[in-house]
Amino acid sequence: MDISKSVMVFIEHNGEKIAEVSLELISEATKLAQKLNVSVTAVAMGYNIQSDLEMLGHYGCKKVYYLNDKRLKHFSSIPYAKNVCDVVGRFKPQIVLFGATVMGRDIAPRVASQLKCGLTADCTELKIGEHQMGKKLYKDTLLQIRPAFGGNIIATIVSPESVPSMATVREGVMKLGVADHSKAVKIEKLSCKLPDEDFMTEVLDIIREEKSVDLKGAQIIVSAGMGASDEQALGLVKYLASTLGGVVGGSRPVVDSGVLAKDHQVGQTGVTVRPNLYIACGISGQIQHRAGMSDAKRIVAINSDPNAPIFSIAHYGIVGDVNNIIPKMIKAYKEKV
Ligand SMILES: Cc1cc2nc3c(=O)[nH]c(=O)nc-3n(C[C@H](O)[C@H](O)[C@H](O)COP(=O)(O)OP(=O)(O)OC[C@H]3O[C@@H](n4cnc5c(N)ncnc54)[C@H](O)[C@@H]3O)c2cc1C
Repeated sequence: MDISKSVMVFIEHNGEKIAEVSLELISEATKLAQKLNVSVTAVAMGYNIQSDLEMLGHYGCKKVYYLNDKRLKHFSSIPYAKNVCDVVGRFKPQIVLFGATVMGRDIAPRVASQLKCGLTADCTELKIGEHQMGKKLYKDTLLQIRPAFGGNIIATIVSPESVPSMATVREGVMKLGVADHSKAVKIEKLSCKLPDEDFMTEVLDIIREEKSVDLKGAQIIVSAGMGASDEQALGLVKYLASTLGGVVGGSRPVVDSGVLAKDHQVGQTGVTVRPNLYIACGISGQIQHRAGMSDAKRIVAINSDPNAPIFSIAHYGIVGDVNNIIPKMIKAYKEKV
């Protein structure tokens, strides 16, 4: 293994815990690093978060560069971006991954523009492969895959001429690996040499808004599309979800119309879910919706249009009106339990 090279992950910590997307990215980085025969490293910053960083080792991270400084306790764009630039400049990873979160979306473009390297936002898949440009063949290049042009094509984006290749990935898109508690990470402390003038904001108070639903952790999701968005049909969707012990999801137009909160949105620009059971009610199944739920173990689709695209990925398809079908499902379920 070439330990001078690495796949690096930016670790997001909210002062209480490491963001799940960072652990998912460490898991993904481990797969990429195996293909490249390099190690997984991470860059983290904050104040007194060292003990939380230990868990990075359980997911395959070999070394974390950690900047511990009271001034880094709360996220601030410029100092965080400058520190990442410094660490990347010093330790020269081949690939750097960020969560496509508020924090990641803020600093990744700053780092990319400072280091003059490519950055692909919202990747849905990452691979190592070859890329031919004219007569030149680039081997072991990061293939950054994501929907483009409104989801009409799946684009593979490469930036082989600039190092590192950088990408952001939304939470839930990459699978969290199984934690191996026998594996440890080496924590290398670095000092933050930034002057106080770089810290231009002062955080006075933090108010966290709790999510209205935990879609990502749910094992049963009953989702409403535009075909189940009126008061009666949505009421049935909610009743079916509560009967089955599940939660309510929705397509983007349903969320955009305001009848469900944003936390309920499944899809490319919503949450990526992998429940045991996903019931799509009045959802056409456009690519942007499927991107967020096609990995569900069992998909049941109810749609009045027999040609709706959702049926192409459904394990069980029911052609009919949600207002007729859902009450029958609830009745059948109640008779069984
Ligand atoms: C960049 C981008 C990102 C996007 N991100 C997302 C995303 O994250 N999530 C997402 O969901 N969408 C997303 N979209 C929107 C996506 O393209 C679709 O427009 C959307 O998924 C359609 O939602 P829908 O299936 O609820 O509505 P529609 O496409 O209008 O489908 C409604 C369906 O309901 C059926 N129906 C109607 N009445 C009934 C009834 N009584 N009983 C049974 N069936 C009935 C119809 O036959 C139809 O198939 C995105 C689009 C873009 C361009």
